[in-house]
Amino acid sequence: ESFVDMNLCESIMKDIAFHGYTTPTSIQAQAMPVALSGRDLLGCAETGSGKTAAFTIPMIQHCLAQPPVRRGDGPLALVLAPTRELAQQIEKEVKAFGRSLDSFKTAIVVGGTNISEQRSELRAWADRMLDMGFELQIREVMQNLPEKHQTLLFSATMPVEIEELAQLVVQRRNVSQI
Ligand code: AMP
Repeated sequence: ESFVDMNLCESIMKDIAFHGYTTPTSIQAQAMPVALSGRDLLGCAETGSGKTAAFTIPMIQHCLAQPPVRRGDGPLALVLAPTRELAQQIEKEVKAFGRSLDSFKTAIVVGGTNISEQRSELRAWADRMLDMGFELQIREVMQNLPEKHQTLLFSATMPVEIEELAQLVVQRRNVSQI
């Protein structure tokens, strides 16, 4: 599957070309059509595989397909990441693919941590999602989402604990595992 086959809007195609991406990576070719179809997705892909674009591009496409946002409306998309650095990296990519859209706004929300905590956060990575505290936070976020929503969950590994996390956040009847 090529980017052209994915029926992405013109401004995103422009930003993909501007980024120098010509061919989707393997995870992008597999995950993006599913994500664009509106189904939930459980994706296993390592760092460097292009997984960030695999969910940010469909996310931007989804935002563009919505009616104009009015004052007081909540965000159209929400990304949860286990570390501040990862959140910043993801925001950078979201901005890159929404480059041609002046109305596209992003915001980053992080908890306060000190330098040494941030260093260990970097090492811990996806495992952070498994912390009890994090699980409770995810549950709380889930409770506040609109009933109709789509979840794309990516992890570098898929141990039992992540599968359990997935059960918490993906809608079973509508999930693809890649
Ligand atoms: P990630 O796995 O999301 O951290 O991405 C790893 C690197 O691959 C990043 O530097 C991306 O800019 C780059 N990348 C992602 N998708 C593509 C693509 N389709 N073609 C070329 N490079 C890409």
